[in-house]
Amino acid sequence: MGRVEWRRRAIRRDRGHPGAFARRRGVRDRTTIDIYTPEPFPMPTAGPVLGQALAGMLAERGISLHTETSIDRIDPHANQLVLTDGERAGYDLLLGIPPHRAPEVARTSGLAAETGFLPVDPATLATAVDGIFAIGDVTAIPIAGGKFLPKAGVFAHAEAEVVAERVAAELGGRTSRLIAATPDAERIAACALRAVLGLSEREMDDERALDELLNPARNRYRLETLNVGVHSPMMRALQHVSYTFCKKLSHTADSQDQRHRMVPASRPLLAATSCPDPDYITPMLVRGNAEVEDFYHQAMQEAWQARNQLLDRGVSPSSAVYVLPNATAVRLVETGSLLHLLHKWTMRTCFNAQEEIYAASMEELEQVRAAHPRLARHLGPPCYLRHGLAYPVCTEGSHFCGVRVWDSFPAVERKL
Ligand SMILES: Cc1cc2nc3c(=O)[nH]c(=O)nc-3n(C[C@H](O)[C@H](O)[C@H](O)COP(=O)(O)OP(=O)(O)OC[C@H]3O[C@@H](n4cnc5c(N)ncnc54)[C@H](O)[C@@H]3O)c2cc1C
Repeated sequence: MGRVEWRRRAIRRDRGHPGAFARRRGVRDRTTIDIYTPEPFPMPTAGPVLGQALAGMLAERGISLHTETSIDRIDPHANQLVLTDGERAGYDLLLGIPPHRAPEVARTSGLAAETGFLPVDPATLATAVDGIFAIGDVTAIPIAGGKFLPKAGVFAHAEAEVVAERVAAELGGRTSRLIAATPDAERIAACALRAVLGLSEREMDDERALDELLNPARNRYRLETLNVGVHSPMMRALQHVSYTFCKKLSHTADSQDQRHRMVPASRPLLAATSCPDPDYITPMLVRGNAEVEDFYHQAMQEAWQARNQLLDRGVSPSSAVYVLPNATAVRLVETGSLLHLLHKWTMRTCFNAQEEIYAASMEELEQVRAAHPRLARHLGPPCYLRHGLAYPVCTEGSHFCGVRVWDSFPAVERKL
């Protein structure tokens, strides 16, 4: 390259294009530009036709292209490239691309192949480990012709969308999905109760132990509206059974969910997880009215536009999320022992519970029922537990929903 007074800031403004920089400075005619590449033509992944076309464009602009030329090292004292054939080429300004390699954190993650890059399923971007995806420059995705997908932002962006959709789809349309449960939970709870009472299995088999623990006719703690059972030695047998759920709630519902502090969750950092596109929950009543729903969606669009504009103006992500509404979707993972979930599921399967928490609790019961039918036999709202055993059947007083839920629970339809 010819001698030109280069300035790093100006180069940045010209996005790394020395030709544009030199033209703007009025020195292009005194500047020579050379491209050295080990490849047979530019962008070989796009095929020879496009490659030759690009080579033609470079020639038209007076840029010399040296193909199949590898650089052995750079001699910074002499301002020279040392090529693998021993030849040298001088420069005033060098824009070099070092060999690609994944960052150490990826290379040593246990997910990388020998090359240091992460192999992924090309359709889903899933790595070899369940639930972990990889996108962007750290991946190695084979394409036709024995080559790999180029490392470019345009691909990283599209891959991010694929993974985002897959993560969202993992809930399978549910509000809450059971992702882990104590193996052999029924037996563990029964064993724990026998240990509390000092009984052998012959004296109290699993079936009877679970009945003593969970049947409201035998365990009066189950009829209490307050969670006083946690102080009972026998109820503590339920502490050894736990369930983990993956959930998606509005910020509004999550505030209610957090009140069940004994069922903790790992909640996302909103600044790190909020996206440019609106991501929110629409309440059932809003969905039932087209005019209101239009208005609602418009409000959401405006909120996210405000967030994006603040970010564009340099406001920090943690401040920009302040403009997002309570409808914002929050994805969390929640784990609780049956001792504490029992209380939550009793309160939140009542028709008076907040809409999303009700939906989540009903789905959770359904999945626990499928996994551990004997533990889930007596789970439901207060009226379902108290019917025929305690008065009043409904504990909501003047807020009684007016529906005999206890007659058909869980086959009930909640109308708002
Ligand atoms: C000069 C140049 C020009 C380019 N031009 C284009 C172009 O015109 N079009 C195009 O599509 N692509 C272009 N690319 C390629 C594009 O920039 C990359 O393919 C893209 O940025 C890859 O995205 P990524 O998220 O995989 O990785 P990156 O954007 O590299 O992001 C990885 C992030 O992880 C961080 N990180 C690394 N290690 C750790 C750690 N241990 N802990 C925490 N964080 C860590 C890094 O600091 C970085 O912020 C260009 C690249 C360069 C260098």
